[in-house]
Amino acid sequence: MAEKQNVIGRFAPSPTGTLHLGSLYTALASYLDVRSKQGQWLLRIDDIDCSRNVDGASSAILYALDALGLHWDADVVYQSQHHEYYEAAFMQLSNNNMVYRCTCSRKNIDALIYPGSCREKVVLDVMSYAWRLKTDQRIISFYDEGQGLIHHALDTQHGDFIIKRKDRLFAYQLAVVVDDYLQGVTHVMRGCDLIDSTPKQIYLQSLLNLAQPCYHHLPILVDSFGAKLSKQTRAPVVDLTNPEWVLFRLLGLLSQNPPAVLAKASVSEILQWAISNWQPHVLIGLQAIKLNKC
Ligand SMILES: [Zn+2]
Repeated sequence: MAEKQNVIGRFAPSPTGTLHLGSLYTALASYLDVRSKQGQWLLRIDDIDCSRNVDGASSAILYALDALGLHWDADVVYQSQHHEYYEAAFMQLSNNNMVYRCTCSRKNIDALIYPGSCREKVVLDVMSYAWRLKTDQRIISFYDEGQGLIHHALDTQHGDFIIKRKDRLFAYQLAVVVDDYLQGVTHVMRGCDLIDSTPKQIYLQSLLNLAQPCYHHLPILVDSFGAKLSKQTRAPVVDLTNPEWVLFRLLGLLSQNPPAVLAKASVSEILQWAISNWQPHVLIGLQAIKLNKC
């Protein structure tokens, strides 16, 4: 029981638009998982890349979660207010001689994996450069609660990756690792389109001496062509005037087999049922769930 009380999960959407069904799918799963363990569920707005942020998207996200009864604990955290923490982590890596400047553009990197061309290069301040993290030959292994045992060779499958971009923004990988640490996150549940980020994040955690959370990568919702639901694939807008129906549908897509009578229940009754009956194991090994009507 003591272990259960320490569970902290999070939902971390980017404010690039309103939440579509695919994002809400992940949000609901993460919420149910944490609540079924009597844990805390935190909300973080991943707004570090200001150029992609859409006006009003953050408040639309909060509104949607609230309408669905997915109430978060503690204050909402905004990545854009965490620059000093990212800078401190970056300096730690820099002081340990783990980063270097890279002037390459995507166009002049032929290989899929960056071959480390700039490792020994002298790059002057006046040049345009990104910062890359040095990787080595280690194998990163972790047990994913949704996808099983994963092994990645850091050098051949990832290579030296960017942690600070040419536009001076800290890269997603560094920001996420620092934020998960700052929020005390113990359980990361997210879509399996992000599973390739996990070995990079585990590597960063080891370099920064941070605890590694449990990872659980869920199937993602795809349209009838197999494409992930997103703004680009014109994911249907979720009708928040009928939150009960949205929750009921999501529970079906999460293979939780909600009883038909639940369709007529209130938001809090539906969530109560879903928390008590939460069965994440039915999703193990699945990478995509196809939406029939899309
Ligand atoms: Zn380079």
